[in-house]
Amino acid sequence: MSAPTIELGQTQGTSLREGAFGNATALSCRECGHQVELGPHYACPECFGPLEIAYDFPRVTREEIEAGPRNIWRYKALLPVPDDIELSPNTEPGFTRLLRANNLAAELGIANLWVKDDSTNPTNSFKDRVVACALSAAREFGSKVFACPSTGNLANAVAAAGARAGIRTVVFIPSNLEQPKQVNSAVFTDSLVAVDGNYDDVNKLASEIAGEEDGWAFVNVNVRPYYAEGSKTLGYEIAEQLGWRLPDQIVIPVASGSQLTKVHKAFQELIRLGLVADKPYRVFGAQAQGCSPVSVAYKAGVDAIRPVKPDTIAKSLAIGNPADGIYVLDICRETGGAVEDVTDDEVRAGIVLLARTEGIFTETAGGTTVAVLRKLVETGQLDTSLETVVINTGHGLKTLDAVAGSVAPAATIAPTYAAFAASDLG
Ligand SMILES: *Cc1c(COP(=O)(O)O)cnc(C)c1O
Ligand SMILES: [Zn+2]
Repeated sequence: MSAPTIELGQTQGTSLREGAFGNATALSCRECGHQVELGPHYACPECFGPLEIAYDFPRVTREEIEAGPRNIWRYKALLPVPDDIELSPNTEPGFTRLLRANNLAAELGIANLWVKDDSTNPTNSFKDRVVACALSAAREFGSKVFACPSTGNLANAVAAAGARAGIRTVVFIPSNLEQPKQVNSAVFTDSLVAVDGNYDDVNKLASEIAGEEDGWAFVNVNVRPYYAEGSKTLGYEIAEQLGWRLPDQIVIPVASGSQLTKVHKAFQELIRLGLVADKPYRVFGAQAQGCSPVSVAYKAGVDAIRPVKPDTIAKSLAIGNPADGIYVLDICRETGGAVEDVTDDEVRAGIVLLARTEGIFTETAGGTTVAVLRKLVETGQLDTSLETVVINTGHGLKTLDAVAGSVAPAATIAPTYAAFAASDLG
């Protein structure tokens, strides 16, 4: 293999500030290793493979991290952000709670279970993490517009972060999106665009606009390498909150597959930096049957992912052509994990199960993840004697309709003791 070369890329006419990307050194192709200069690029000029951030990490200690703020910037040395990142307006997500889930564990027959609850981020999903990193990059590139195609949560996070940063936002969503997710974006921006089509159509439109218009930072398109790194903070936090060690097993929802690949990358970095002990761990991916291209490929034992047309209530996971799907397959296979899928009814049951055992109201993505956890136990794919973490990526108030038909008042009674006594609730 020849040494990677650094190419001088175009940077939309802006000259990048020294140290603007912290310890990041270049963009490196995930497929061929070719390197290009840090800039608003996302595809390898040699092979069109995805570009990822490469770093030259200094020595980072647990103490330095622990002394940092209680948000994702405590890990700034491991992210493509400037050293003074805390000084710029951002939504400051992260350091969400890691809850011991004893009731759910008992219900499923698992010895040791944790829920990483990312529904408490500023706009109630894990997307605030990735958007915070994308915003920092957009600022450094001097972008005029902060934009995204979204299955919902990303739109909320982009619109809120753009508002706080005082940068114009334009967010594109499929027009059939859940109403709460539409309102949760429109409240922050007057430029919400509903597109008649599914997410994959919206994504294609965004790529065209990004190619035609100057100065638009599409967080998950042309600044995707920076955006994607934000998901690593989920992995760092889980390890730190466990007392600087890795879990044995982790269950992660899969839409584009970015989050799963980055949590794995985070664990690998922590091992390499000596911040946690090296040990084996198994990574499991969760999909809804109505959009399960990765789990279908996993079960068929093939490497290629065949795109599907999504049809599921788990809209935040409804990406029919997942960009990082092949890497999810690799990671789940290499670590001894699996990718599994569940029906929409199982997703609804998963939402109610987590709510009634742990008091956490998750959205359909979390319902998918909990239902997959249950299925992995029932099918013997998960080792119930090992320490397991399941990630809740979003809040149930955004997908009320999913369970509105299955949960309701147990009784409607007159305001009298007699009526109460006559009901069977006494
Ligand atoms: C976007 C999203 C995911 C998955 O994200 P990918 O990184 O695209 O796989 C999971 N859960 C929720 C709630 C999301 O909004
Ligand atoms: Zn390449």
